[in-house]
Amino acid sequence: MSDNSLRVVWVYPDLLSTYGDQGNVLVVERRARQRGLDVARLDVRSDQPIPTSGDIYLIGGGEDRPQRLAAERLRRDGHLYQAVQNGAIVFSVCAGYQILGHEFINDLGQREPGLGLLDVTSTRGEGERCVGDVFADIDPRLGLPPLTGFENHQGVTHLGPTARPFAQVKIGKGNGTGDGTEGAYNDTVFGTYMHGPVLARNPQIADLLLKLALDVNALPPTDDRWYEALRGERIAAAQQPA
Ligand code: GLN
Repeated sequence: MSDNSLRVVWVYPDLLSTYGDQGNVLVVERRARQRGLDVARLDVRSDQPIPTSGDIYLIGGGEDRPQRLAAERLRRDGHLYQAVQNGAIVFSVCAGYQILGHEFINDLGQREPGLGLLDVTSTRGEGERCVGDVFADIDPRLGLPPLTGFENHQGVTHLGPTARPFAQVKIGKGNGTGDGTEGAYNDTVFGTYMHGPVLARNPQIADLLLKLALDVNALPPTDDRWYEALRGERIAAAQQPA
């Protein structure tokens, strides 16, 4: 690892890594290396301090109890907040997304404070759990092709005025508020309900994270035939009638 390695931090793999979310780390690493970048990957367990010097932080989903433990430890640690103040990029999935907001309902049915890095608040949905394939248009400002992913959550996430919806669902529930929004972002902090793992299904999102981290507008092209085949397969699955 050299001093100018891209530092990719995988936050709490022991608590937050459901439905293959670890794949997001592998995809970011691979796409960075394909561009000739030196990558330092740091897997930070929940009993270790979060480094503040990371460039990209990835956070996965989790069941309700690990989600509460992760929120408690991240609040106590405080370094993720500091890293974002330093300009770090954060990409979070499902439970990780809820933790980045103001609060969510924990496994004890109580309001659990989040980190306040995204202007979102999650409640517990009264209806059926949101489970299934999702197909959505990503916010046009981000210039990305449609999003595909797999959702599985009970939480419903409401966006405040400073959070922009990450995407608008054509199939699936997304934030679960009934307005069709999926995920949220603000500047360098992103949250989505998409598992999949989402960056394997949508490698252009991994490239967006790399471009933000490197502060560049474009990256050298890669051979994406494998990814496109996977995307095509998952989009077709999402469009199958239930
Ligand atoms: N426990 C949360 C919910 O059900 C998050 C689930 C997940 O990360 N898949 O809303």
